[in-house]
Order: sequence, then C-alpha cells, then structure tokens
Amino acid sequence: MSNEELLFRIGQSTEETEFYTPMPEGYRRGHHKYVVVVGTVMSGLGKGIFSSSLAKLLQDKGLRVAPIKMEGYYNIDSGTLNPYRHGEVFVLDDGMETDMDLGTYERLLDQDLNAANFTTNGQILSAVLKKEREGGYLGRDVQFIPHVTGEVKLRLRELAARTNADVVFVEVGGTVGDFENQAYLEACRQLAYEEGENSVTFVVLTYVLEPGALGEQKSKAAQLGIKRLMEVGIMPHIIACRASSPVKEKVREKISMYTNVPMRRVVTMHDVDSIYTIPDALRTAGIDREVLTLLNIHDRVDQGKDDQARLKWRSFVERIEKPRKDINIAVTGKYTALRDAYASIIKASEHCGVQLGVNVNFKWIDTTLIDAANVAKRLADCHGIIVPGGFGVRGTEGKIECIRYARENKVPYLGLCLGFQMAVIEFARNVCGIEGANSTEFEKNCKNPVIDILPEQKKIEGLGGNMRLGGKDVELKPGTLAFQLFDSARTIRLRFRHRYEVDPQYVKTLEEHGMTFSGKHPKQPIMQILELSQEVHPYFVGTQAHPELTSRPLRPQPLFLGFCRAALAYSQDKSRQVQAV
Ligand code: GLN
Repeated sequence: MSNEELLFRIGQSTEETEFYTPMPEGYRRGHHKYVVVVGTVMSGLGKGIFSSSLAKLLQDKGLRVAPIKMEGYYNIDSGTLNPYRHGEVFVLDDGMETDMDLGTYERLLDQDLNAANFTTNGQILSAVLKKEREGGYLGRDVQFIPHVTGEVKLRLRELAARTNADVVFVEVGGTVGDFENQAYLEACRQLAYEEGENSVTFVVLTYVLEPGALGEQKSKAAQLGIKRLMEVGIMPHIIACRASSPVKEKVREKISMYTNVPMRRVVTMHDVDSIYTIPDALRTAGIDREVLTLLNIHDRVDQGKDDQARLKWRSFVERIEKPRKDINIAVTGKYTALRDAYASIIKASEHCGVQLGVNVNFKWIDTTLIDAANVAKRLADCHGIIVPGGFGVRGTEGKIECIRYARENKVPYLGLCLGFQMAVIEFARNVCGIEGANSTEFEKNCKNPVIDILPEQKKIEGLGGNMRLGGKDVELKPGTLAFQLFDSARTIRLRFRHRYEVDPQYVKTLEEHGMTFSGKHPKQPIMQILELSQEVHPYFVGTQAHPELTSRPLRPQPLFLGFCRAALAYSQDKSRQVQAV
C-alpha cells in the first residue's frame, strides 16, 4: 500500500492501520491550507492579534480564511470562566461562549464566527468519549494517538470543508510545553504530514527579553522555547519575535541560526501603539508573501481586491493617528482592575473614536466606593457613563447612584445588559416611585421585582446553561432614537447573555413615566432597548444586549456611536462649563 493510500483510506477499521483519519464530506485535500500559530516563552504575546492580522492580509487578497482557537482547558466553553482570570466571555451569534480572542478575529476579519471556530480540550474529550460509547472505534483501545489527535484533526478539516476555506488559521492557546496543548501540537504535526508539502505553515511567536539591568536584548529564552517546539517534531517556518522595542539584527541572526529559519522569516513584532497597525507591519515585513509561497497559493490572489482593501484600511489607520479631541468615559464595574474583562467595550468605543476623530479615555469606577454623597465628585470630569454587564449584588447600589447622576445631570448614559436592568430599577424607584424596586438577582424577595428571571426560564433549575445566549432579533419602534440610530431599520440583530429581564407587568407604569422601550423581541414581551426622550435627556439608552460584541473597526455599533457622539457634544457644551464656573 502506498503512503498516500495508507493515509487516506477513509472510514476504514482502525484495527488495520495505525492511522485514524476520518475525512469530512466535501473535504478537498490540497485545496485547504493551514497556518498554525503557537507561542513560546510566555502567554499573552498577542497570538490572536497576530493570527487575525495575518488572516486579514490573506482575506484582503480575496482568499477565504477561517480561524479557529484551540483552548487547552477542559471546560466545554468559556461561559463559567472568571473574567478576572481569562478576560471577557465573548458570545458568538450561535450562543457559543468563547475566549476574547474570538472577538479579535470577528473584528479584524469583519466576519461572524460560530462554534466551529472554537474548541477546548473539554469538547475534544467529550467527542471522543461519546464516540467510544457509540462503538465508534471498532474494538480498539481508545488512545491519545490516534483517537484524541484524530478528533482534533477532524475538527480542523471539518472547519475547512464547511467554510470551503483556502486557509484555516489555527491558534493554539497557551504556550508550547503546556501539558494541555500536547494533543493540539501532535495533531498539527500529523496534519502537516498527512496533508503533504506546502499545506501547513507553522508560525511561532516568541519573546525576546530586554532586562533593564543589562540594557540589551537576550535571545536565549526564545531559542529554548522554539527548541521545545522542535522536540515535538515541528520545525517552524516563520518566527515572530515579540519584544518591547525593535528586535536587533544580531538577535534575529542568532535565532535564525539556532532554528534553521531563514532571516527573512525571522521578523520583529515589537510593541506598537495601536493593534490596527499590525496588518501593515506584517505586510512590510513580507510575511503575507512568505505564507503564500510556503503554501504555494500565489495564484489565488486577487490583486485588485488587495489594493482596494489596503487603501480602505490605511485610511482607517491614518484617522487613528491624527491628533484629536478627547472625551472621558466612566465605566463602572466590578472588574475594573482588569481591562481585559471589558475588552469589547474598549474596542467598540475606539471604533467610534476613530469615526468621530476623538480619543476616548476611560475612567474606571469601582462602584462599591460610590454613594449619593460622593458620586458627583467622582464623575465630575466625565462626558459619558457606561454601566457594563455583570453578575451579583456587589456594587449595584453604587451603580444606581451613577445612573441617577447621569439621568439628572443629562450626562450621556449607555447601559449594557446589567446596566440596562439597573437603569430600569433606578427609574422605577426614583421617577415612578415604585418602592423597593429591585432585581430578584440581588434581593430574592424584594417588594417590587421589576427585574426578574425570564418567564420561560423559570422552569429550568440550576445555574449552568440556563442563560439566554447568542444573537437574537430586536424589533425597533419607529420614531425612537434607537430607530434613528439604526437608520430606520425595523429589525436588527444583537447578542445576548443574560438570565434576568424586565418583568412585563411593570412596563406600562415605566412607559407612563417617560421611559420608552424602543427595542423588543419580535414575538415575546422581552424588553431589549430602552431610552428616555431626547426632550428630557440628550442620550439615555440601555440595552439588554451586549452591543459591544458586534462593533467592527469600519462599522462602529450604532448605540455606541450615538453615545460617543453625545459625549463629544457634552464635552463641548459651553453653557455647562459656564455653569460649572
Ligand atoms: N446578571 C444579569 C442577568 O443575568 C445581567 C447579565 C449581564 O450583564 N451579562 O440577567
């Protein structure tokens, strides 16, 4: 039997061969190519940013790209992870709760992703165990190799086939050498062997240290880290050297020499002010062309498309770099110690900032320290207030004070998910006079549960898996601010991740007192966007959704854009400054 036959006898008994290589339907071997991105020395190198920037460059050239993030942990998804440890939970349209890197891919590729673009060891193992119970392995003992690795390869090929990708970008989480990554690395090694030459390109991100005491760049940690990759049988094709300052030629030479990777493919990827400049930096370093050569796909490039995309992106980047006005946005929340917990909010505001020519500064407010007496002082220099999503009672009364301050002083307000619910509670208490208005999340037996568990969810017990997740349609009410912001669209789509909602019983009273629910579920009585009339407040909007998740660099999310525009107007309002004097 030839090597070829041996490798691709699909669906055969695994008793007869050591290969376990199930092939998904529609898979075109030789057509689908792979770029595998791994990291050494430390995590947090920005593999996601690198990988998505490179994927963007190929997408710009007219190629179909499909990213996948492979996480080492055994959780099935990111839903139960603490944002303090892992950054925000990024929800996809199909409801999959994923790592924040998926947000980076969606934003840079301007592409909606789904569960096929994300996997964890937990998912891989569950699939293997399920197959075992169903008798899928034909009398064999189930092993790490070939079955677990086979499942990983299957995932990659399924993604390739389903999206008809020219190039699948595989980002392996963590660093080479982590126990959790062994199945992924081994699977990618096998994939490269099975797919043959010019099919899989390995890119390693590493870190070049520059200890202050020495004042020079040291490459040893990078060399050792890459060696670790070679130990598992993977020779890198491209090495991206992360560092705080441009990596010196001597250091690159050393790395090149120790790894057999030619100098033109050992590039510096030092820190930059804006991640949006990275696609251009990669292009200047020639990495996109190297990848096309390594994968032998120069002939798939559409030059006209590339030129156009490049111009569009460059004009966006130039707008970032221009000197601009400043606005200060207060973000209140529990995880103020860690910006990653609010990554998408920062990004969504940034997108608006570029469009409006302003620089958005964030002021992080710990609401456990806010009360009626100090709120005005704490928020005095802010031009807009965001109360973001969150869970649990801690700091909620402080949030209500912030919302009251925003409402009474006409400071632009944007409430996101929990911030929407808190705005309803504040309005119920302080405007409608509904005594003891609260959410049953914070006070189980409160007198007036204006926010309560979803009616259709009440039957479901337990915490895990009972959230309302993913993209849902929202029907907008004509004549409202939301309707105007979305260019008179009747139905829009937003992403959700919540368990509680407005109790429909209170809607009439809230509306009679001036709160408008401008966005609702098309069929059920689920309130999804609220607003106050612009006659009483320049911008007071809340949404049960997470609009920050669907903002894109060249298409800022309308609720954020309206908010930032109002904040800019507020910062320039002369009458307010006179009053303050
Ligand atoms: N804790 C609230 C709920 O479960 C809000 C959730 C959120 O902000 N993501 O409904």
